Amino acid sequence: MTLAALIGLCDKEKLHVLQQLDQFREWHSLDDKRYCLVCGEIITGREIRVIRDVLGKESQRLACPTKDCDAVPMEWVQPTDDVLIKIAMIELECSHLRLMTRAGRVLRFLSQKRARKTIGENDA
Ligand SMILES: [Zn+2]
Repeated sequence: MTLAALIGLCDKEKLHVLQQLDQFREWHSLDDKRYCLVCGEIITGREIRVIRDVLGKESQRLACPTKDCDAVPMEWVQPTDDVLIKIAMIELECSHLRLMTRAGRVLRFLSQKRARKTIGENDA
């Protein structure tokens, strides 16, 4: 038995559902974008899943389209310039960190190689 059913809605209905269930931010069209704080993805109204809970009182809820993400409307923020800059900064920081880690690994590898070589020369 399925407890929740994914429901297909036409564009107009879906926009209406979004406007009704998302009490935190306004939806003007299905192409409105949101930044999900939980999975870090930019999602659009069109992608958001509308789920109908069949068990108990019949109710609809919104779910993030990202797999394994259970974010609710409260966790979807408008991707304003501020938010986008923050995302870019975080990504930059992450790639910077990755680069530093990689450089550190190479340096360690090189110094180990050099150390081994020195020992080898001393033996000879
Ligand atoms: Zn999400």
